Amino acid sequence: MLVYIHVPFCRTRCNYCAFHSIPLGGGVESAASPLLRDYVDTLLLELAHWGDRLNGAAVQSVFFGGGTPSLLPPRIVGIVLERLARCFTLSSKAEITLEANPESLRGGQSVQQYLAAGVNRLSIGIQSLDESMLRLLGRPHRAQDSLHAVFTAREAGCANINMDLMWGLPGLSVRQWLQTLKDAVRMSPDHISAYGLTLEPGTPLERDCEEGRLALPPERDQNIMFIEGASFLEANGYIHYEISNFARMGFQCRHNLGYWEGADYLGLGPSATSTVAGRRWTNPASQRAWEARVREGSLGAEVENLTPRVRVLEMIMLRLRTSRGLRLSAYRKLTGRDFLRDHQRLIQALHENGLIRIRNGYLRLTRNGMLVSNSILSNLFERTDAVLKQPLPPGAPSPSPQALAARDDRAEVQSVLWPSA
Ligand code: SF4
Repeated sequence: MLVYIHVPFCRTRCNYCAFHSIPLGGGVESAASPLLRDYVDTLLLELAHWGDRLNGAAVQSVFFGGGTPSLLPPRIVGIVLERLARCFTLSSKAEITLEANPESLRGGQSVQQYLAAGVNRLSIGIQSLDESMLRLLGRPHRAQDSLHAVFTAREAGCANINMDLMWGLPGLSVRQWLQTLKDAVRMSPDHISAYGLTLEPGTPLERDCEEGRLALPPERDQNIMFIEGASFLEANGYIHYEISNFARMGFQCRHNLGYWEGADYLGLGPSATSTVAGRRWTNPASQRAWEARVREGSLGAEVENLTPRVRVLEMIMLRLRTSRGLRLSAYRKLTGRDFLRDHQRLIQALHENGLIRIRNGYLRLTRNGMLVSNSILSNLFERTDAVLKQPLPPGAPSPSPQALAARDDRAEVQSVLWPSA
């Protein structure tokens, strides 16, 4: 099982961000200490609750995301991990990631302390190495802080470092983006996440673009940023293993891979979502409402059963994000149907246009296909909805005995977790 811990605090609010976070201004130590104390107390209770309910399930990966998890002092991260190890079966080889903002890693001491607490992967939110872009994004750090943070993390002994970067920002040229990647590669991170900017409704950046004060780069330039950026990273030893993710051999993020491959995940903290044994629920976004829910012991009370339709759509959507692609036999196992036959005409058109490839039983998007993945997925979704309503064609293989057995296992786990359902 994967465990995600949402830390809902940030120093300030970035101009593009729609995540759930509480801006703390002066920082955790001063104004927010009661908030933080309540958060940690509740998180420990929530861990104990689920450890008990999931019978100490095996955990292969822990991800502190946010928000800005590096606002949690290392001592607190250590306490949370100790509690997790007590309530669950935490693998000694678990990947334990902490998202950090560059300005919060100024002192090498804190990195050493995070590592001593059990963190073994740092994901640093750099976003840009250009001062004007950082100001436009409303980031609370400068380019120099980023260089220093990566250097400090490495010096302190962190052997697995990710840099988060963004392309497609208003005013960003192709040349600037490629320069950012060159500078990033010079810092030798093990992993680079390069996200295209999405304008989230209601954010200041979206308003500025809507009202004409800022403009996104032309679509053609954005396409070049994605394609040339990916080629540049690949030429420098980074495997393009998911639409927005690149890693040196052996440094693919195990947490995210598990998520894309459909592993169960438990989300803790305000607004976190969980999917366990075919059921999904989301914690309240407000910290106080989440605390009340934990105190009442009514976590996971409002659950959504993942219907076969949702599971098939998610399988297609998540697997096609990865460079490995969708295993056709997995689709057959889940639905009893043949993916290529179900989508014959679309698949043929996508193939002829160089947007997909099929090899060794996997269907994957090419890099040009990744560029238009949203439109490919919406076409597939529309068709899948229609296809799933049709009876299985005569002679089609039925879902395999293993798939049926897996469904039975899920039913058994469900009845333990939600006995009254
Ligand atoms: S630091 Fe991250 S989570 Fe916090 S406001 Fe900025 S983008 Fe959002």
